[in-house]
Amino acid sequence: MADKIKVAVSGACGKMGQAVIKAVRAEGDMELVAAVDPANTGKDIGEVVENKSCGVIIGDSLEKALRQNQIDAVVDFTNPDLVYKHTKLILENSSRPVIGTTGLKENELEELKQLSQQKGLGCLIAPNFALGAVLMMMFAQKAAKYFSNAEIIELHHNKKKDAPSGTAIKTAELMTLEREKFGQDNCAETETLKGSRGGVSESGIHIHSVRLPGFIAHQEVICGAPGQALTIRHDSFDRISFMPGVILSIRHVMANNDFVYGLDNIL
Ligand code: NAP
Repeated sequence: MADKIKVAVSGACGKMGQAVIKAVRAEGDMELVAAVDPANTGKDIGEVVENKSCGVIIGDSLEKALRQNQIDAVVDFTNPDLVYKHTKLILENSSRPVIGTTGLKENELEELKQLSQQKGLGCLIAPNFALGAVLMMMFAQKAAKYFSNAEIIELHHNKKKDAPSGTAIKTAELMTLEREKFGQDNCAETETLKGSRGGVSESGIHIHSVRLPGFIAHQEVICGAPGQALTIRHDSFDRISFMPGVILSIRHVMANNDFVYGLDNIL
């Protein structure tokens, strides 16, 4: 029988981390070997997530976990301030990153790509692991060819630390592959209240971020043309929506030594 994939979860006690712990433990070809989170350090992660011990004690440092365990792949759902450092640390310790944490900048992505190539290690970074969200981005890219005006509204829970979402940024990037500039026929605008028109991507797509309790992760891409509008919307109602994508990505980084940004590249 093939060896199981030894997986660690960073940010294990967070909203996404807990869902990943459950998902990994449910897979027959994977073994949870480490859980890292400054919250609940020293407790059994099984007790925290499922009220049932599983023998994996929560550690307070990813670096220590990588030194003390043999880890094939690390899934990271922490926060934008840590994601670059963590991804680098994982690769430097010859493990394979599966990164869901958003907030990586373009130059950081480039550096991580080079490091993963130097090391010959699979590395997957996905702003959105939900299959429906990936399709929404693909459909938006397709629509961009036909609509010269488009805006994005992304809606998340009010504990999300970065704005706009990684998904909104990635969507705008994909749409820009089809059209260099959007909204060129808009009139000159004055904002009576600063920020009313949202953030503006390089190609002129306005991105609006809504933060409200009750939401998980949602996005609408509205494309406009004279006399018509096309709205493409995706809703993640439960964090379980991200788990098939996370599991697929763990298997991908184990089987391939490439750098992947965006789940669309492996579907
Ligand atoms: P969250 O609930 O705040 O979870 C983050 C967890 O990381 C917290 O438990 C936090 O502990 C912990 N943490 C802080 N410092 C750490 C460290 N040094 N090492 C390990 N863990 C540490 O956030 P979330 O909702 O799960 O989201 C996490 C990230 O994933 C965000 O960037 C979010 O935008 C992103 N996300 C991505 C997707 C996707 O599909 N790619 C989907 C949903 C969310 P404390 O609370 O004690 O600080």
